[in-house]
Amino acid sequence: MANSKYEYVKAFEQPDILLPNTWIVVRIDGRGFHKFSAKYAFEKPNDRRALDLMNMASKAVLTDLPDIVIAYGISDEYSFVFHKTCALFERRESKIVSTVVSTFTAHYIYHWNTFFPEQPLTLPLPSFDGRAVLYPTIQNLRDYMSWRQVDCHINNLYNTTFWTLIQQGGMEPQEAEKALAGTLAAEKNEILFSRFNINYNNEAEIYKKGSIVLRDYELVEPGTSHEPLDENSAKTVEEQQLSKTQEEKDRKRRAKARITVQHVDMIKDEFWERRPWLLS
Ligand code: ATP
Ligand code: ATP
Ligand code: MG
Ligand code: MG
Ligand code: MG
Ligand code: MG
Ligand code: MG
Repeated sequence: MANSKYEYVKAFEQPDILLPNTWIVVRIDGRGFHKFSAKYAFEKPNDRRALDLMNMASKAVLTDLPDIVIAYGISDEYSFVFHKTCALFERRESKIVSTVVSTFTAHYIYHWNTFFPEQPLTLPLPSFDGRAVLYPTIQNLRDYMSWRQVDCHINNLYNTTFWTLIQQGGMEPQEAEKALAGTLAAEKNEILFSRFNINYNNEAEIYKKGSIVLRDYELVEPGTSHEPLDENSAKTVEEQQLSKTQEEKDRKRRAKARITVQHVDMIKDEFWERRPWLLS
C-alpha cells in the first residue's frame, strides 16, 4: 500500500496483546436488560425462551470461534473461555472482545423471532458489552467458573423466593424485598417449602445451574487414568512427535464435535475429571 503523509496516525494505535500462556475469559453482559426484559414481558424469575436464545447465540459463537473451549451463561451474561495457547488475532484484546460481542449480538438478534415469534424486535435493539480477564492457572480459571455458578445459585434462590412471594403470596415487591432481607439460604428454602409447598431442589436445572456450552465427546469414566500432557516428562523425540500428531488429531476431532448445552455442576472436580480435554 502506498505511503501517504497521513500514515503517521497509525502510530497512535496502542498495542493490546493479551499476556501469552494465560486463559482468556471474555464475559459479555446485556445492556440494560432489566428494562429490556420488562419491555418484552420476560417471565419472572426465569424466562426460558430468553435463556434458550442466549444459549443458541453462544453455540453459534463457539461454532464461529473454535479457540473457545467452554462457555458459561446465566441471566443476560455469558463467559467464553479461550484456551491458554489461543493465538487468535495474535491475542489482540480489542479484536477478540469485539469479535465475540458482535458475533453473539448478531446471532441473538438473528434468532430472536424463533423464540419470541409473537414479539418482533423493535428499537432500541438489544446490545451487549464485553471485557477480557486473564487467568494464569487452571485453579484460577476453575475458581472463576465456580464464582459464576455460585452466583447463579444465589441469585436464583433469591429470585425464585422473591417472585413466589409476589406471584403466589400476593406481596408487593417492596414487601417481598423486606421479607427476604438478611435471610440465609436455608430460610429461603424454608419459606418456599412451608408456605408454598415448593421444594427448591425440584426447580429446573437450567435455572439452578446455569448453562454450560461445550463440545461433546465421550466422557472419561471416573477412576480411569488419562495421560496428562506433561511438558517435562522424559519422552523421546519420536514419542513427542507421535503425541503431537495424536494431539493434532484430537484437536481436529474436537473441532468437528457437536456443540451441546448442559446444566450441571462444574464446581466439583468430577465435571473436569470426566472431561480432561477441556483444560489440557
Ligand atoms: P447493565 O446494563 O448494567 O448490565 P442490566 O439491567 O442488564 O444492567 P444486570 O445486572 O445485567 O442489569 O441484570 C440483568 C437483568 O435482566 C436481570 O436482573 C433480570 O431482571 C433480567 N433478565 C435477564 N435474563 C432474564 C431471563 N431469562 N428471565 C427473566 N429476567 C431476565
Ligand atoms: P480482517 O478480518 O482482517 O478485517 P478482511 O477480509 O475483512 O479481513 P479488510 O482489510 O477489512 O479485510 O478488507 C475488507 C475487504 O472487504 C475489502 O478489501 C474489500 O474486498 C471488501 N469490501 C468491504 N466493503 C466493500 C464494499 N463496500 N464494496 C466492495 N468490497 C468491499
Ligand atoms: Mg453489567
Ligand atoms: Mg446486563
Ligand atoms: Mg447481567
Ligand atoms: Mg475486515
Ligand atoms: Mg477493513
